[in-house]
Amino acid sequence: MTGIWPPLRMDLQGLEPYGAPQIDVPVRLNTNENPFPPSPALVNAIGNAVAHTAASLNRYPDRDAMALRGALADYVEAESGVRFEPVEVWPANGSNEVMAHIFAAYGGTGRTALSFTPTYSMYAQYARDSHTAYVTRPRATDFTIDGLTMRSAITEVQPDLVVLTSPNNPTGTAMPLDVIETACESAPGIVVVDEAYAEFRRPGVPSATSLIDSHRNLIVTRTMSKAFALAGARLGYALGSVDVLAGLQIVRLPYHLSSVTQIVARTALEHSDDLLAQVEALRTERDDLIHWLRGHEFRAPESDANFILFGRFADAHRVWRDLLERGVLVRESGPEGWLRVSVGTPQDNMAFRDALMDVVAASGMIMADDERRNPKE
Ligand SMILES: *Cc1c(COP(=O)(O)O)cnc(C)c1O
Repeated sequence: MTGIWPPLRMDLQGLEPYGAPQIDVPVRLNTNENPFPPSPALVNAIGNAVAHTAASLNRYPDRDAMALRGALADYVEAESGVRFEPVEVWPANGSNEVMAHIFAAYGGTGRTALSFTPTYSMYAQYARDSHTAYVTRPRATDFTIDGLTMRSAITEVQPDLVVLTSPNNPTGTAMPLDVIETACESAPGIVVVDEAYAEFRRPGVPSATSLIDSHRNLIVTRTMSKAFALAGARLGYALGSVDVLAGLQIVRLPYHLSSVTQIVARTALEHSDDLLAQVEALRTERDDLIHWLRGHEFRAPESDANFILFGRFADAHRVWRDLLERGVLVRESGPEGWLRVSVGTPQDNMAFRDALMDVVAASGMIMADDERRNPKE
C-alpha cells in the first residue's frame, strides 16, 4: 500500500470532526440546550410509548413518518399561526440532518451556497461534504443585514443556495421578513432560513414560516433541540412546498428516522405545553442577563435566541479558560474577542455572573483596547 493511510478523500485529509467540547463541569452554558429536563409525567409517557414500540422493532419504521409530520404541522400552526399539510413537513435526525439533505439535493458540484458571517459554522461543512462551493459575506458591525446588501450579494454571487439563520447563531440577531423576502425574490435558487431558535424570539418578531406560501423557493428549518428541550432525541424538520421537499427525499437514507425517534417525538409533541413552559422564563432570564452585562461595561447585542454574545475581550480564549476554571463552560464561537453564553437556569446564570466578576477581579483589564476607550458604544 502506498500513499496516505487511510486513503481519505483529499479534501478531508487532516481535518477534525466538528463539535463543542463535552466537558463535565457544574455549569454547562455552551450548546444552547434548554436547561430544564422533561417532567416526570413526560418521562413516564415516553417510557411507555417506547416500550410499546419495542414490540415491533423487528420491522422497519414508517419510512415517510406521516403521523409525526402531522403532529409537527399541528405544532407549527399553534406556535406561529401558519397551517402546513403533513406533506409540507420533512423531519430528520436533527435539523442538522435536514440541512445536510438540503445541501445534498440543492447544492453539489459546480454549485454555490451563500451565507452571512458570523454564523453557524456547520454550513461550511455541509458545503464541503456535498462538494458545494461556500461563499460568505460579512454582516454589518451590529450583525444585521439590510435588504440592499442582501440583494447585491445575491446578484453578485448568483448562489444556488442562500442560507440565512434567524435568530442567528452566535449573535442572536433576528432577520426582518422584508430582508428574507428580498432574498427569496433575488435568489436564482433555494433560500433556507434556519429557525433553530424561533420559539425564543421576542413578541412581535415574526417567523419566516408565513412567507412559504408566497415564495416557492423558501425552506424554513426548525428543531426540537432548543426551546423544545429535546436535544437528546435528535429531531429537526423542514417546512416548504411539496415539490421542494420532494428533492430532500431523494437524498435521504432509507428509513432514516427510527421508530423510537418517531414515537419519542410524537409523545413529546403531545406534551408541547409542558416542554415549552420554561421558554417565557428563559426569555426573561436572557433579557435580564443582557441588561446585567451592559451594566458591567460588556457589550452584548440584542438576542432573540436563548444565548447571548458578549465581549469584547482582548483575549477571549483566556476569559473562556478562566471561566472554565471556575466551573462555568461557555462557547468560543467567534467573532474574535467575543464569547457566547447560553441562558441556563436562574442558578446557572447567577453562577455565570459570579464567575465572570471573579475573572474580572482577578485579571484586571480584560476588555479589548478599543472597548476601553469607548466602552458603551
Ligand atoms: C443548535 C442549532 C441547530 C440544531 O441542530 P439539531 O441538529 O436540530 O440539534 C441548527 N441550526 C443552528 C444555527 C443551531 O444553532
